[in-house]
Amino acid sequence: FSPWNDPAAKPYIQFENVTKRFGDFTAVNNLSLTIYEREFYALLGASGCGKSTLLRMLAGFDEPTSGRILLDGQDLRGVPPHKRPVNMMFQSYALFPHMSVEKNIAFGLKQDGMASADIAKRVAEMLKLVKLEPFAERKPHQLSGGQRQRVALARSVAKRPKVLLLDEPLGALDKKLREETQFELMDLQQDLGLTFVVVTHDQEEAMTMADRIAILDKGEVMQVATPPEIYEAPASRFVADFVGSVNLFEATVTQRDERMAELQAGPDLRIQTSNPGEAQHSATVNYAVRPEKIRVSSRAPEDTSVNAAEGEVFDIAYLGDVTMYNVKLDDGRVVKATVINSQRLADDPLTWGDRAWISFKPDAGIVLTR
Ligand code: ATP
Repeated sequence: FSPWNDPAAKPYIQFENVTKRFGDFTAVNNLSLTIYEREFYALLGASGCGKSTLLRMLAGFDEPTSGRILLDGQDLRGVPPHKRPVNMMFQSYALFPHMSVEKNIAFGLKQDGMASADIAKRVAEMLKLVKLEPFAERKPHQLSGGQRQRVALARSVAKRPKVLLLDEPLGALDKKLREETQFELMDLQQDLGLTFVVVTHDQEEAMTMADRIAILDKGEVMQVATPPEIYEAPASRFVADFVGSVNLFEATVTQRDERMAELQAGPDLRIQTSNPGEAQHSATVNYAVRPEKIRVSSRAPEDTSVNAAEGEVFDIAYLGDVTMYNVKLDDGRVVKATVINSQRLADDPLTWGDRAWISFKPDAGIVLTR
């Protein structure tokens, strides 16, 4: 599933040069995005980056100050929320506390004037979909957080919208439940064949669920890409740092040919990379390398003249699957290295205060010019 790579695929939701101002504050700045039908699309960014504002404009609770939003080719300006084939599930779930699960799910259908026999059928279908049949008569306060989340979900898909907007859908759940629910949401989206646009500040959530992620900052798009692309080929320092953990070395480009670049990152660290990106000779760039691509050992690598540096282990965190090391290089920089515990060498234990070498391969990291 990758319609964004298919030049013949028809865009489904289009933000075209959308700007939203509140007074003289610009929440969304001349932003353009394309979302395809049946895509699970995540808007990811820190608090205040404008992601909820984008959802609200798509739902029709707010209008852009300028620019257009199109759905299936139709300009949505002036179309009231209830006339849009879009439904929103709020983080707070906004369930009616005095109504049973069943009545909560039926509410919107009733308002739309659906016949009661059809409502009963649809509600039963929804209860089954979210596995809440035994809880139909309960009130929201008699449910767990995860069950309440599923009621909200059932209610928001009951009307069979074409697009479901989810604002921090898992924000109220604890970590374990959140992980399970992520997969449920993905299955549901597949089963129903809907387009999902989810807003989240949680990168793991976006990485797990989304087909593509738009990274936002200050009302602008920093990068749109699939989760592996975002992680392995971030377009900028901002994205590299925002998604996952990364080591960034400021460096000067000392050599550049078609496939390789050589960088000098401080007096003692020479870097050879097979991912030179846009590196230009003499330019100042950042070399970004993920902690799991760094080898850490008490033994020096074969060649210490390149992609290697010596320092001292000053922090170790054992996380079960992996161990994280912070190594302070002799020039004072701190390098993060993550080692998979099942691959850790028994004869090379490292503890606090040990001298250690960090090293990495030429394809371990990438050069960032932005
Ligand atoms: P969060 O994750 O905290 O919800 P967000 O990325 O969803 O953040 P938005 O709610 O879209 O952020 O808000 C973007 C910016 O616009 C924020 O700085 C916010 O204060 C501002 N903003 C949003 N709505 C209004 C409004 N009605 N009036 C004035 N400023 C607003």
